[in-house]
Amino acid sequence: MAAKKSNKRSLANTAPAAHRRTLVPAPLTPEDARAQLRELAMNLWWSWNEIARRPFAALDPVLWHATKHSPLATLVHAGPATIEAACAEPGFRLALADARAALTEAMSARTWWDDAHAKAKPGTQIAYFCSEYAIHESVQQYSGGLGVLAGDHLKSASDLGVPLVAVGLYYRHGYYIQQFADDGSTKVLYPVYDRATMPVVETGVSIECPIGDRHVRAKVLRMDVGRTRVYLLDADLAENAPEDRLLTEGLYKGEPDLRMRQQVLLGVGGMLALRAVGVAPTKIHLNEGHAAFAAIALLAEFRAQGLSHEAAIRRVRERTVFTTHTPVAAGHDRYGVDMVAAALRETLAKGGISRAELEALSRERPEDAKEPVCMTVLCLKLAEKVNGVAKLHGVVSREMWKSVYGAKKAKDVPIGHVTNGIHVATWLDPRAAEFWRTACGFDPRAATARNKGWKRAEGADPAAFWAMRTTLRTSLVRFARERLARAAERRGEGPTAIDEMLRSMDPNALTIGFARRFATYKRAPLLFTDVDRLAKIVGDAKRPVQFIFAGKAHPRDLGGQAYARKVFEMTRHPALRGRVFLIEEYDMEVGRALVSGCDVWLNNPIRPHEASGTSGMKCPMHGGINCSILDGWWPEGVVGLDPTARGVKGMIASNGWAIGRADDEAFNEADAHGAGEARDLRDAASLYELLEKSIVAEFYDRGRDGLPKKWIKRALTSAATVPDFFSTHRMVAEYVDRAYVS
Ligand SMILES: *Cc1c(COP(=O)(O)O)cnc(C)c1O
Repeated sequence: MAAKKSNKRSLANTAPAAHRRTLVPAPLTPEDARAQLRELAMNLWWSWNEIARRPFAALDPVLWHATKHSPLATLVHAGPATIEAACAEPGFRLALADARAALTEAMSARTWWDDAHAKAKPGTQIAYFCSEYAIHESVQQYSGGLGVLAGDHLKSASDLGVPLVAVGLYYRHGYYIQQFADDGSTKVLYPVYDRATMPVVETGVSIECPIGDRHVRAKVLRMDVGRTRVYLLDADLAENAPEDRLLTEGLYKGEPDLRMRQQVLLGVGGMLALRAVGVAPTKIHLNEGHAAFAAIALLAEFRAQGLSHEAAIRRVRERTVFTTHTPVAAGHDRYGVDMVAAALRETLAKGGISRAELEALSRERPEDAKEPVCMTVLCLKLAEKVNGVAKLHGVVSREMWKSVYGAKKAKDVPIGHVTNGIHVATWLDPRAAEFWRTACGFDPRAATARNKGWKRAEGADPAAFWAMRTTLRTSLVRFARERLARAAERRGEGPTAIDEMLRSMDPNALTIGFARRFATYKRAPLLFTDVDRLAKIVGDAKRPVQFIFAGKAHPRDLGGQAYARKVFEMTRHPALRGRVFLIEEYDMEVGRALVSGCDVWLNNPIRPHEASGTSGMKCPMHGGINCSILDGWWPEGVVGLDPTARGVKGMIASNGWAIGRADDEAFNEADAHGAGEARDLRDAASLYELLEKSIVAEFYDRGRDGLPKKWIKRALTSAATVPDFFSTHRMVAEYVDRAYVS
């Protein structure tokens, strides 16, 4: 019953405004309009509900574009004449009234949680800790996949009604803005964001977080993400010492010592902030090891209440959930014991926690005096519920952390997995949503744990589906041309060269996308292993193929930046020019454009280094198809691989393609750490073979009606099999059932 009701609600929300109301709303004064717009802008619910963005886009389309689609920035910069003119427009008043009504309705609607758990588990309160949150491109508080996952988690918690608040830091410079110089090197820019245009509320509450010998004052800011409240700490205050103000200067910036103290602010300060705003969590969820010190703060609290060390640890473990995201041993934060003990001095003293106890909690081998504090080990020892982010990642994690649990066999390690997902309403293009609704009769945005409607995708009309694909691909080409032109002009490239490059981009060509952080294990330049072979694939004028790349490397990751440069150089290679493109400043907007417009999503990490990956989950609901190494989520997502088939046949699934051998399913240590070059050559050869014999051939295998029949079938199978399971609605429901209320 509830499902039906929520279906109806979402249908109403996305219906054209004119169908929702027949009365033109009463006149509106500019003051009232400003107040109403402000209220809408301050709840980031608009980031996944187009109906709430519409009045801002209508207010001033140019400003809307210039502010990266920020409702608040558009409102702040809109002059009195603009507001006045809008108030005179019945269409604008209607859009505003509809948006307000939809928000009010959504905030009070009955939810999955109300139906499934509210009665049985009254008083449940989850506090979710993460170092970054990606909610929208105009709120640049994220660097990549971890933040995207966290943002999507919060939105699903809101839609499903799960009682969850989030804790994080507010970064003055965000991450960084990326530009490519003329030689392809990365330029790192740190913009200063105007707080007045950021949708954060001053709560008036502040905390004093003990770090080392000082108390650092931090303001507690609040960001409303639908029903989910996000508390962000800001230490950039005049009364703090200059080095303490740096704690919230930027994301993943600075020396290890600064990062460690940042993590004290996140964990210890985060717990203080929760108390200051009156939130008493029944569970804390540490999303990655950065917030491990929250568990130490909790431990100190229980000790201070008089519990023994062992009893206090038991209590902390009952209350703590930990999600690990890093399948590579070297990727886990480790800090010297002296440094950590000094930074946590007051917290440890408060709980009477000795240095030996800290060491025992944070080392794989506590007796090894040289071993530093490992944030992940702390979380493993202080959380009862621990999970990796995909089935394969669970396997890798159990193997990796055997020693922490004193286990001989990986199967005895109590680490499970909750496979990641994506928040459908955030990533789904409104035109694709409309297509599924009308062509297949289901609501892709339903606020339920699972959405079986996707099964109906297989029955979609091929011609209508192909028209939708062409629309989305054409939009991507338009978007990419604009971004490429802007960057080329800035670099001073001549108008003729720019024009030639843009014209070569083809809205009807097979379009393959690769966008992710340029961490080296993701191997962005793998495609260029054999340029001659690639040149033949993209150079066929009758069967054009184009690749669009985007990605940012961490400012200190010179290897990743070298990869970006290699891709940049390839866009200028005489045999690839006009067929390979690189868009700078990969963010949520670029991500949305690519995952909706690309026909194929390429993913070629070193297995098993990709814990999950989520970008590939965003394509199938737009009719895109994955071509990926069997790493991260893909071994779970892929359907219909024939394990007995050899060669290309063994890599063709019914909903996509698997680079590499189909019998390569089991985790194989040698694969990851063996001869790197041989592995890269082998994976690249598989990729070329797939492109030549299956992907390009199938895309251009057209019937008399001009439709690629087999391709469309594969794409519809992809839509029918991926988005239902790989959504954060399913993921959050799983966290609830397995960890939050048990
Ligand atoms: C989805 C997304 C990611 C995560 O992609 P991966 O496949 O995990 O690398 C990172 N950044 C942005 C902007 C995204 O949209």
